[in-house]
Amino acid sequence: MSRTVAFIGLGHMGGPMAANLVASGFRVRGHDLVTAALDAAAGAGVVPVGTAAEAVADADVVVTMLPAGRHVLDLYGDILAAARPGSLFVDCSTIDVADARQAHRLAGDAGMRALDAPVSGGVVGAEAGTLTFMVGGGEGEFDEARPLLEAMGRRAVHCGEAGAGQAAKICNNMILGVSMIAVSEAFVLGESLGLSHQALYDVASTASGQCWALSVNCPVPGPVPTSPANRDYRAGFAAALMAKDLGLAANAANAGGVRAELGLRAAELYAAYAESAGAAEDFSGIVRTIRGQEGEQP
Ligand code: NAD
Repeated sequence: MSRTVAFIGLGHMGGPMAANLVASGFRVRGHDLVTAALDAAAGAGVVPVGTAAEAVADADVVVTMLPAGRHVLDLYGDILAAARPGSLFVDCSTIDVADARQAHRLAGDAGMRALDAPVSGGVVGAEAGTLTFMVGGGEGEFDEARPLLEAMGRRAVHCGEAGAGQAAKICNNMILGVSMIAVSEAFVLGESLGLSHQALYDVASTASGQCWALSVNCPVPGPVPTSPANRDYRAGFAAALMAKDLGLAANAANAGGVRAELGLRAAELYAAYAESAGAAEDFSGIVRTIRGQEGEQP
């Protein structure tokens, strides 16, 4: 793979990801609408470029890390004509599966190749270069992108054809959202029955209730000292991002006629929670809403 990359979207995730590409020897031409983001990336060795079209003009790979599907599709509309024919477009944003498939189609129609490659691991993983990429698109494109993905992450899983990376991401996060609510409800039920947090944790974490939401991101303080509950629910994985991902899962379930009753309910609960007290706090803070004490100390 050639080592010239255009990187569009240098925010919380894109900034450190672009910096890790530079650190691995890639030549990175970066663009963001926000000057401060562009300046920070320049400090890490990214070549700042005034427009996205200019950034992609002499790149072989174009990485995007943008807020939502409409940003990706609008941007593709602006830059595909400016890119070199055959360039590889790698979208790492978390977007609707339908939008990801549309992005693949737009790229293909313009003579480009594409991958959807959303990530898990958050800002900490982006900074440390330990992200996991879930990738949709052709096998050949995946192999070609491997060195680039390995410069920004620890693991890249080829999930299937166009959109399969986004599909894997939202299905995984639907499991996570539903299981965090289930674990939180169990702790609140246990409280009402006089059961200590530690006792429930000791039983469930070694029994059939075991899951990541319990044993790593435990929503009550005490049993897992590193979980966000022990630092007043500072994220972690922000509730607003969980609400976004569950919304994408709900869109896909509704579009496909899938009876994902708990997933849809989790999407509603997280949307309400993120809108009221918890947008910036860790998604495990939903336990306070279940307890009926939004915004209070546990
Ligand atoms: P962010 O808002 O910090 O960064 C997005 C950047 O895109 C901003 O700097 C914005 O100015 C820029 N941008 C928007 N439109 C643009 C355009 N047309 N041209 C150039 N720049 C443009 O968001 P983030 O936290 O970095 O998240 C990016 C994506 O990664 C989202 O899809 C999010 O869901 C996903 N994600 C985030 C996390 C996380 O923990 N933050 C974790 C996993 C996945």
